[in-house]
Amino acid sequence: MKRANLEEVHRQIREWYAKNGRHDLPWRTTDDPYRIYISEVMLQQTQVKTVLERFYFPFLEKFPTLKALGSAPLDEVLKAWEGLGYYNRAKNLHKTAQLLIQKGQVQGIAPTMPENIDSLVKLPGIGKNTAHAIAAFAFNKPVPVMEANVRRILCRLHRIKTPNDKKIWEIAYAMVDIRHPFDYNQAMMDIGATLCLPKSPKCEACPLETLCQGKNDPERYPTKVRKKVPSKEEHILLYCYNDKLALTQRSGKFLHGLWGFESTDAPLCAAEYIGDVTHAYTHFKLTCHVHLYHETEPSQERYFRLEEIDSLAISKVDRKIINLYKEACGS
Ligand code: SF4
Repeated sequence: MKRANLEEVHRQIREWYAKNGRHDLPWRTTDDPYRIYISEVMLQQTQVKTVLERFYFPFLEKFPTLKALGSAPLDEVLKAWEGLGYYNRAKNLHKTAQLLIQKGQVQGIAPTMPENIDSLVKLPGIGKNTAHAIAAFAFNKPVPVMEANVRRILCRLHRIKTPNDKKIWEIAYAMVDIRHPFDYNQAMMDIGATLCLPKSPKCEACPLETLCQGKNDPERYPTKVRKKVPSKEEHILLYCYNDKLALTQRSGKFLHGLWGFESTDAPLCAAEYIGDVTHAYTHFKLTCHVHLYHETEPSQERYFRLEEIDSLAISKVDRKIINLYKEACGS
């Protein structure tokens, strides 16, 4: 596309953003790289509304700086993350904060986020997309962002059915408004979230309409890939002694660091089946058959009263199991 035409499209995008953009989102009204980084990581797998209403402010109140985050025990960070899921994100935030604290100590400065993409992608949990978002939003670098909504727009603009990563990044770099990267990128995300919807996009209101090659049949781009999500089943045995439940802190890769109930191959005959809980992860659907075993002697390492469990970091599925236990016991 010719530079003059692109400049006109950039102007229209900015005009649209000025009128329609979600300017009041708190990560758009700050230039603190740490706050922008936290929002980007939370938004990787979670909707704006959920992050905004339940997690962003409480997390920042508890950990207002990189230093506060890296100096806190991992347990506390996981507890603050509880309900957001995908706990690797919280562990990587913690690890990154610790690395940046160490780096700051060597340089004799307060810990700070690096500005360039090559340094950002070396940090735990920061991939190419997040690095670009931090560079563009925190440091106003002239680079594009690439979340799912933006990818969909680019595919439609160029009628691409199956985007390959290299090609789509090339297109994104060729199109970015290098003089106004912040507004351009925020606008592209808002256009994707409000106009260029997966179904029935609102092309008549779109500032990219003149440029868009796919506007006559937008839903064809990109091709939807339907993945079949496998199902898993587990038996969970709740050891109950003196009205306390046994929980262990996980050490495996999955849900590492969170407290929870272990699965068992075969529940004890003396255990009572109290019901099922289900939970949908991204890669599989889990059904837990829950059994309760009242012990006369403690056989497990740690037991907790229900009020004590409230202060532990546990996963959503384990929280559901506790609710089932409460229903079964009338507590
Ligand atoms: S014109 Fe329609 S299909 Fe093209 S980018 Fe805009 S909303 Fe999407």
